[in-house]
Amino acid sequence: MAENQNTVCFRTMHLDATVRYTLESYRSVGGYVQWERILREKPDPDQLIDELKTSALRGRGGAGFPTGLKWSFMPRTKPGQKYIVCNSDEGEPGTCKDRDIMRYNPHQLIEGMAIAGYCIGATVGYNYIRGEFYEPTARFDGALEEAYAAGLLGKNLLGSGVDFDLYTHLGAGAYICGEETALLESLEGKKGQPRFKPPFPAQAGLYGMPTTINNTETLASVPVILEKSGKWFLEQGKPNNGGPKLFSITGHVERPCNLEIPLGTPFKDVLEMAGGVSGGRALKAVIPGGSSVPVVPGDVMMRTDMDYDSIAKAGSMLGSGAVIIIAEGTCMVKVLANLAHFYAHESCGQCTPCREGTGWLARVLDRILAGNGRPQDLDLLDNVAGRIGGRTICALGDAAAMPVQSFLKHYRSEFEHLVEHGRSLVEAA
Ligand code: SF4
Repeated sequence: MAENQNTVCFRTMHLDATVRYTLESYRSVGGYVQWERILREKPDPDQLIDELKTSALRGRGGAGFPTGLKWSFMPRTKPGQKYIVCNSDEGEPGTCKDRDIMRYNPHQLIEGMAIAGYCIGATVGYNYIRGEFYEPTARFDGALEEAYAAGLLGKNLLGSGVDFDLYTHLGAGAYICGEETALLESLEGKKGQPRFKPPFPAQAGLYGMPTTINNTETLASVPVILEKSGKWFLEQGKPNNGGPKLFSITGHVERPCNLEIPLGTPFKDVLEMAGGVSGGRALKAVIPGGSSVPVVPGDVMMRTDMDYDSIAKAGSMLGSGAVIIIAEGTCMVKVLANLAHFYAHESCGQCTPCREGTGWLARVLDRILAGNGRPQDLDLLDNVAGRIGGRTICALGDAAAMPVQSFLKHYRSEFEHLVEHGRSLVEAA
């Protein structure tokens, strides 16, 4: 998304493209007050973690795991190095929010990482940034320099005896490095491939040491929660779905944008805030949480709220909050083929079901689109997808399978028409 383009901002993230992203501007909205208070008062980390648990902050990268609970898994008092790692490898198709946090408010992420380090006993942090994010990286690095110069990062901070060093690490554009254990492998200088779990990163993470990995937006939410209280944050959303959240609205929409809105906002309001479906067309379908989640028919979405539990009831997942709008007149076979090629390309190749299955899905869909589909191809797609899901080391396999099953469930007639007649049912496709 281009500079200044439609980043609508509410409340907590201060993603205002007209304000400079400096230490001074961050301080003007209360920046680093919480970190300096922690350095002065050195509160019990468990108290801070309890505040996060009260907030019901759930991981904003896609999994939606409760953040406070995740932090409590760290063996904080055990001797030895521990790490906090920020996952800024934002690669989920449709998602473009974390890059804007680094572009417009990088200090809030730094403060969140420092507080996280204090809570889990980590004196070193890494921000793993997607390799293509030139401008966000430059701004994050500039903010790091400012924070070091101001004595907010480094050793014995403000005479507290607390140390926290923070480093940037650039990825190389592999989607799979957004999976947390593949990210750790890449950070260690190895090929980015997911690890078997257990052990989980809190037991054996970066360089074999206890590590917590959180998404950019998750960590940037932490200073706000400590400033305004966990209760306040929870009340902005719904029970079990605390807080405001960033949503990236893309696809067939008049005004693609990032919106910071309370969890639980009705989808129809979100669509309106983004200017409605482009060209005044009717809404056909929505992929509500990035390309890895099931598609939902438009009429169902118009009755659904944008929070983890409501989207689950609609048969999908909130994921990363990337809302992909699909207008009437779109060929759903083409949409699915596009997604299938993405996953086939991004599979790391470790597991046979994912490596072979994603390729098969893409090839069968190509065959159908080319007008050479066979009647048994729809069952074949369903069968291959069913043999990938739940049988792989990481969730990329599920991410490739779920869209296939949901597209076939809701739009089977379009696939059947293409197989039977060799052309799309949807004229405007
Ligand atoms: Fe690699 Fe796919 Fe297996 Fe994940 S599921 S480890 S991406 S082969």
